[in-house]
Order: sequence, then structure tokens, then C-alpha cells
Amino acid sequence: MKKLQMVDLQSQYKKIQAQIDKAVSGVFASAAFINGPEVKQFQSDLEEYLQVKHVIPCANGTDALQIAMMGLGLEQGDEVITVDFTFAATVEVIALLKLTPVLVDVDINTFNMDIQALKKAITPKTKAIVPVHLFGQCANMEAVLEVAKEHNLYVIEDNAQAIGADYILKDGSRQKAGSMGDVGTTSFFPSKNLGCYGDGGAIFTNNDQLAHTIRGMVNHGMYKRYYHEVVGVNSRLDSVQAAILRIKLPLLDSYCDARRSAAEYYNNGFSASDKIITPITSEFTTHVFHQYTLRLKNVDRNALHEHLNECKIPNAIYYPVPLHLQEAYKDSRYQEDDFKVTNELINSVISLPMHTEFEQEQQDHIINTILDFVNE
Ligand SMILES: *Cc1c(COP(=O)(O)O)cnc(C)c1O
Repeated sequence: MKKLQMVDLQSQYKKIQAQIDKAVSGVFASAAFINGPEVKQFQSDLEEYLQVKHVIPCANGTDALQIAMMGLGLEQGDEVITVDFTFAATVEVIALLKLTPVLVDVDINTFNMDIQALKKAITPKTKAIVPVHLFGQCANMEAVLEVAKEHNLYVIEDNAQAIGADYILKDGSRQKAGSMGDVGTTSFFPSKNLGCYGDGGAIFTNNDQLAHTIRGMVNHGMYKRYYHEVVGVNSRLDSVQAAILRIKLPLLDSYCDARRSAAEYYNNGFSASDKIITPITSEFTTHVFHQYTLRLKNVDRNALHEHLNECKIPNAIYYPVPLHLQEAYKDSRYQEDDFKVTNELINSVISLPMHTEFEQEQQDHIINTILDFVNE
């Protein structure tokens, strides 16, 4: 059996090695390392794929979130609502910009923003909502946008985990995840669904003015060379990464299909157990399974985690500590009662290997090891 890995990027690379190596050496030969033609080309490839007017590539997904918030002109003291159950980058940039993070609970089935909790958290200081499309499926965007419209708030979609997913609107039409809010962001971290071979990220919007503002901000606040209109940052996607992404973007849909097939295989394997709740997909979204995350009932999750480690089966707890209890993001205004779901999830979830390169016997081995443990 091929070695088990949380994400098998080596096998994936082998299949596209000739194209990747050629593209990368092309960049080396051109020496156009920064803002070369590959970056502009990838930008327009991604605009086409997402059906958005503007993509602004940048250095990573965390920068993308930060720059999106800077571009919207959010200011110290503005409250920004996001979820308690996500990767820390989402809340980190809010705090870094001296905005006030307001964390809300998530839905027990989908792990995404709870709309009632969102409504409850709105105050006169609220300026923006950051829904996170966690683990590869969209948050309830139509509901989020309705709340945003009613209270005149910006919506920033953290789409680091769901690039390639479709949001299915009530009228049956579809829009790409990340393209519905005022601005969307993503990450091309290697293990993300559209990963490059280093760090990378992007910001997307249909708003011409905002796109212009952000394009200057990623480049030291320059709109004209050496004239600095606003305080910016240095955040670029380099040409080597863009060249790699140009090869991987046309494969993204097939990668999403491979992840969905792997998820279905796991789902079938676990279907007989009443102690294992397999991922639940909302009716308004497709799922691209950035993570395949189980919720356990009447199973000692930490014991399973240790057992799998002993069996050399990669697995992970995403996420082990709610953000509202993290040393850096504690806030005396938070009430434990408002985070019942997150507090439960951190003790009951476990994520299994998920990628595009499974061999059936690998998944069989993972499934059987887990079933043997929970049925003991
Ligand atoms: C990965 C991730 C980010 C940050 O992306 P980086 O490229 O690692 O900076 C932000 N938000 C979420 C939800 C993520 O999963």
C-alpha cells in the first residue's frame, strides 16, 4: 500500500511533472520573477473561472483577508463579525488592523456561520461580516447577504477552503464560492484545493473602484510609480507560483471531483455506524471537501486520535481550541453559552486524509481501522 498522507502532493505532482517543470524553467529563463506575464495571465484565467470582474493576486490567504479589509476602509473600532470555528487567520487580521473581532457560533451540521447567532451579534458598530466557507462548502450566503443588506454591512468571503465550490441560489442558478460578497479571498497554500508550490493568495471582487484601491494597496499604496497615495503593503504572487497555478487551475474541477469521490467512499464505509456522523452538505452548495471531517457520538475522540497516530494513519483535529478561548482573542464580552456548538465540535470532530490521489486499499484501511476502534 502506498504511504498514507493527510494530503498526497507528491503523487499529484508526478502526474503533471512534465508541464510544471517546463513552466517553471520558462520563468527561470525569462527572469521575469515578479509581476511577469504569468501573473497577469493567471489573473485573467482565474477571473474567467470564477466569473468575477477582478482578481488581484497576492502573497497568501492571510494577506488577502487583511488587504480586503484595508480596501473597504474599515477603521479602528469597527466591529467585524466572523466565526468561532475557523483557522485563526480570519480573526488575526481583524485584530491586527485594530478592528474589533466579534465571534459567533456555527451550525452543528455544516460547521458554518449560524445565521441566528450572526443576527444577534449585530450592533451599531458592526461594519462587516466574514463568512468562512469551512472545509469546502459554502456558508448560507443568501441569508448572510440579506442580513448585510438590511444593516448596510460589507461581506468578505473567506474562501480559502472552498475554491471551486458552487453556491446554488434559490432560483437554481449557480455562482462560484467567493464571488458573491463585496469581496472574496483565497489561499494557494500547497495543501489547499488549488495549491501552488509555496505561498500564494488572491482577492476577488466585481467592484471596479474597490479593485483599483486594492491593486494599489498590494503594491505599497502606489497607483503611479513612487507616488504613495495610501498606506499599502508588499504582497505579491510570484511568477513561478502563477505559472504553476496556470497549469493546476484547469485541473481544479477534476480535483474537486476526485475529492468528492473519496468523500463518498468514506461515507459509504462509515454508513453502518451510528457513532460516526459523516459530513452533511447544505442544499445550497456543492462540497469540495478541503477537509473530510467526521463528528463522533459516544466515542472518545482523543483516544481515537491517539489510536490512529499509533497505527500511522494521519489525522487531524481541525480545530482543537475555539477562537474565543485562544489567549490572543479572549474578550470579556463573550459568554460560554453563546458558543455551545463550537465548544462541542472541538471535542468531537476528527479530519481524515483527503486529497486527489487515493488508492482504494488506503481508504479501506483507514475505514476499517476506525470502525474496529469505535465498535470495540
Ligand atoms: C488557509 C486559510 C487561510 C490563510 O491562508 P494562508 O495562505 O495560509 O495565509 C485563511 N483562512 C482560512 C479559512 C484558511 O483555511
